[in-house]
Amino acid sequence: NADTAMYHAKDAGRANFQFFTPHMNVAAQQRLTLENSLRRALDNNEFELHYQPLYDLRDRSITGLEALLRWKPRGGEYVPPVKFIAAAEESGLIVPIGEWALREALRQGKAWQSAGRPLLMAVNVSATQLARPGFGERLRRMLQETGIDPALVELEVTERVIVEGMGEARASLDQVAALGVGIAIDDFGTGYSGLAYLKRFPIDTVKIDQSFVRDITVDPDDAAIVTAIVAMAKSLGIDVVAEGVETEQQLEFLRRLGCNRAQGFFLSRPMAARDIEKLLGSPSSEAAD
Ligand code: C2E
Ligand code: MG
Ligand code: MG
Ligand code: MG
Repeated sequence: NADTAMYHAKDAGRANFQFFTPHMNVAAQQRLTLENSLRRALDNNEFELHYQPLYDLRDRSITGLEALLRWKPRGGEYVPPVKFIAAAEESGLIVPIGEWALREALRQGKAWQSAGRPLLMAVNVSATQLARPGFGERLRRMLQETGIDPALVELEVTERVIVEGMGEARASLDQVAALGVGIAIDDFGTGYSGLAYLKRFPIDTVKIDQSFVRDITVDPDDAAIVTAIVAMAKSLGIDVVAEGVETEQQLEFLRRLGCNRAQGFFLSRPMAARDIEKLLGSPSSEAAD
């Protein structure tokens, strides 16, 4: 058919044929190309994790690290998750990519635990990943294989999991909690979970979305929302972390509202494992240098 251009990509040694027709719009073609690139990236080990420290605002000590996915195509620049997470979700590739990220974060967390730096390792997990049967069992095996203390691991999920999570995702969350792994609600306040849902799920931490932090010093509504979240979390025994702290003023404001933990460019940017080791001054980095 002359109207049909054929796109041919090698996928792990398998031929993978996809048909572009004139009816398929440019966005859909770009999406397919991106999906094929992501598949190759997985095969070629082009993913990395960067780590952003989480701080206790009372003494500015580092309490944990959030693992953040980075894609570095051969000879290219880092591609941030915002450019590829949606395509990974839609194609289902988020499952193997997310699994790689989880295993790598646990491996690195265990290495730092062994080096005398036991820090909480927070890992983002998508609703799609959590809804796949067997997630809890795969997590259990990864914990066993890496040997990391489960109390040092926290999974970050979005409110979508809470809102839609009555089936498989709910079962996965219960298994995660039973393994002794923490659960954090990411981007809290942007979804529709409401506060009442929190007590019906095994939640350890809520992370206040950065959209509430941005104008906290000038917008009384944002300050009121953060105050309410902090009060509610306190009464439920849930930890609160503010995301996206970019200024000293925001940090001070959050502290006065009773929010004791935060993360943001003002405190520390996400960075490669080596740079985290320099920041921590861990014994392993001194030995390596
Ligand atoms: P998130 O989990 O809410 O992660 C926080 C994002 O905010 C990160 O973006 C981080 O670099 C950025 N950030 C931190 N401090 C500041 C700040 O002070 N100001 C501003 N403007 N941004 C700040 P990043 O690394 O681009 O990740 C974006 C999102 O991609 C994450 O949002 C998360 O939803 C998703 N993601 C990242 N890694 C993974 C992963 O391994 N698996 C899954 N499923 N999703 C991931
Ligand atoms: Mg997160
Ligand atoms: Mg717990
Ligand atoms: Mg977030």
